[in-house]
Amino acid sequence: MDKIAKRSTNVSYVPLALKTGRVTIRPNAFVTQIMTETHLTEGLRAIGVRIRDTWSGETEEIRAGVVVMAAGTIESPRLWLNSGLPSNPWVGRGLVNHYFDWVTGMFDERDLIAILGSPDINPFVGHTSGGRLDYPGLGSILVTGMSPGLTASMSYGLSQSGYSSLQPLLTSMPWYAKGRVVGHELQEWMENYRRTLSIVIFADDEVNYRNGVTVDPANKDEHGPVPKVSYVSGQRGSRNRNELVKIAVDILRKAGAKKVLRTDWPASLMIHMESTMRMGFVVDDSCESYQTKRLYIADNSVHFNALGGANPTLTTQALATRTADKMAEKYFK
Ligand SMILES: Cc1cc2nc3c(=O)[nH]c(=O)nc-3n(C[C@H](O)[C@H](O)[C@H](O)COP(=O)(O)OP(=O)(O)OC[C@H]3O[C@@H](n4cnc5c(N)ncnc54)[C@H](O)[C@@H]3O)c2cc1C
Repeated sequence: MDKIAKRSTNVSYVPLALKTGRVTIRPNAFVTQIMTETHLTEGLRAIGVRIRDTWSGETEEIRAGVVVMAAGTIESPRLWLNSGLPSNPWVGRGLVNHYFDWVTGMFDERDLIAILGSPDINPFVGHTSGGRLDYPGLGSILVTGMSPGLTASMSYGLSQSGYSSLQPLLTSMPWYAKGRVVGHELQEWMENYRRTLSIVIFADDEVNYRNGVTVDPANKDEHGPVPKVSYVSGQRGSRNRNELVKIAVDILRKAGAKKVLRTDWPASLMIHMESTMRMGFVVDDSCESYQTKRLYIADNSVHFNALGGANPTLTTQALATRTADKMAEKYFK
């Protein structure tokens, strides 16, 4: 279990670490500060963390030879900023998110019998994402099958285009709609759920300095100033997304879809966040901070860019494993 693919950290790395007998897990410990000191030869370096127990409210200082920050793309820059670590113009900047979209095709029973030998696709059967195509330079598209509720919310629940009926009609594509379907149109899509196939779009997003995380000292919770996130897709991300949508629509039509709906997800649907503490800008190629020695970062925030539109987590896990080796070599030999 702890060594096979497609496993999460809690059933792989964590049990392996516990087996060493040298690991203590502290649940409900929220780090509120990275503690530092100025060392004669190393300069500014991390020496531990200050934590707050989220259940009892008690605070504590924990000393360490090395600190690894892995609070994620939003909270890692927040922790840096709230700890008063050295100013770096790239801390919190460059947020990417694959600017997702979602395209669904509706098929006729007769066509499906000819293609599949069955009148239905049944998107809820089998893998959630059984097939994927990568388009270098653009991103990737994935066939996506989910339960009726999830499919309905992804397909019809959210759109940045508003109602599809208010969109300009494309006379050359009468079978195509964009935005939120409602009324009879929505009823038809829902009734035909078993004969629909959805494709999710992951655009290769560009790093843009204006996107990212800041903190406002006036806006706090019990752990200090809260992160304020801003993200607007750039030209390249939008272009990539549109190109991938065209490809998805073309695939669905060529497979026989009688109707195609582009949901046009809002940019605020943020599930692949990366790059706010970028390698080469905030951390070096070992993921150690340039400005605070003995402080490593091991989460999505260190990615240099949006990885070409691929799901980010395996890269983060691989990088974290490499970072552990680099750290052991440098400080614990
Ligand atoms: C709905 C959804 C579906 C997804 N599907 C996929 C997928 O199919 N494939 C894929 O590759 N990725 C997927 N992702 C993205 C994936 O979840 C992230 O890439 C991954 O979790 C990022 O890991 P991370 O270590 O950077 O951050 P996180 O997983 O967010 O870990 C950060 C941790 O730090 C904790 N934390 C934050 N601040 C502090 C603090 N100050 N002190 C102590 N702890 C703190 C948080 O509670 C959290 O547990 C999906 C995300 C969502 C939301």
